[in-house]
Amino acid sequence: MVSKRDYYEVLDVSRGATDSEIKKSFRSLARKYHPDKNPDDANAENKFKELQEAYAILSSPEERSKYDTYGHNRPGGSPFGPGGFQGVNINIDDLFGGGFESIFGQIFGNSRSSRRNRGEDLLVRHIVPFQAIMEGHDDELEIEALNSCIKCNGSGSADSGGTKACPSCNGRGRVQRIERVGPFAQQVVSDCATCSGNGVIVTNPCKYCEGEGRSYQTKKIKFSVPSGISNGNRIKITGQGEPPRGNKGDNGNLYIEIEIEEHPWFERDDSDILMALPLNYIDLLLGTTIEIPHIDGKNLKIKIPPVSKPGDTITISGRGLPNIRSSRGRGSVTVLLKLDMPSKISKSLKKKIEILRDEISNDSLTLEENIIKEARKRRGK
Ligand SMILES: [Zn+2]
Ligand SMILES: [Zn+2]
Repeated sequence: MVSKRDYYEVLDVSRGATDSEIKKSFRSLARKYHPDKNPDDANAENKFKELQEAYAILSSPEERSKYDTYGHNRPGGSPFGPGGFQGVNINIDDLFGGGFESIFGQIFGNSRSSRRNRGEDLLVRHIVPFQAIMEGHDDELEIEALNSCIKCNGSGSADSGGTKACPSCNGRGRVQRIERVGPFAQQVVSDCATCSGNGVIVTNPCKYCEGEGRSYQTKKIKFSVPSGISNGNRIKITGQGEPPRGNKGDNGNLYIEIEIEEHPWFERDDSDILMALPLNYIDLLLGTTIEIPHIDGKNLKIKIPPVSKPGDTITISGRGLPNIRSSRGRGSVTVLLKLDMPSKISKSLKKKIEILRDEISNDSLTLEENIIKEARKRRGK
């Protein structure tokens, strides 16, 4: 086998060449050796392919730095797959314009996505009490999910010698074939059909998982819900998703989507909380102080000033929810005052209030003046 030439040498650039120098050199050399210009010239075709390979590597920052470190003998084998670089189809017109970059940009992306070495991610929904927003919350849930089979440890085989490397793909799990497009060969990689991409064939399948290596099991997941969490936030538990097929690679992740239970009276607005407080006419008129239990464990004291009106709000700062984004302490509680009318009135109460009717009427305004005042307010005047 002919030893492989240095990529920088192939492209006739220095090791410190900039991206645009590399591109410029590739463009002019590729034009020179393009098969359209050199029909039936095997030497030119090889040169052209060699240029493409060198350019594919040196135009990708990630691949270039690996090449700079390891040269041609990088760990993990050829970045183009087991068969090495197969050449790509570049139109000669593209070498005058800029149409060739996207072709090279896809080479590594494609080979990477065809490597299925991670299990599937899982998503579960989980309800936590409203209180969890306030102080965080340690929780636990049970899920029924695919897991590495407990009987065969994920091998899929009933005994230790019950598997062998797949003969169709030599245990790689993937097969490649060459597709010809005009004078060019293109490498296409796909999962091996014989072993479904596992690389391994089970000759004596485990009875429990039927050779799949995975089975449904119930497992308990412990996790912490951070304070300040919002509805729909997802907590990621690394490695608790499904195991990969074929017992090779990493487990997927488990995502727990949080749903927050309704509070009996609070509504949440980011780190603020809102509530409505029904009060009778006397409390609004004379003012009062109300105390109700609060989510931080200390009673919430709401001072209603005299002559308050329905629709007025009272804001108590620093008693809302923790702010998850900025550590600027807690939001506020806003209390909306409502007029609470009794559904019935007793005869004796009616008598007593009747006496007050005239005294309670508004200031010195007549009814008509009062109607006009209300209309002005409504019209924003
Ligand atoms: Zn196979
Ligand atoms: Zn099994």
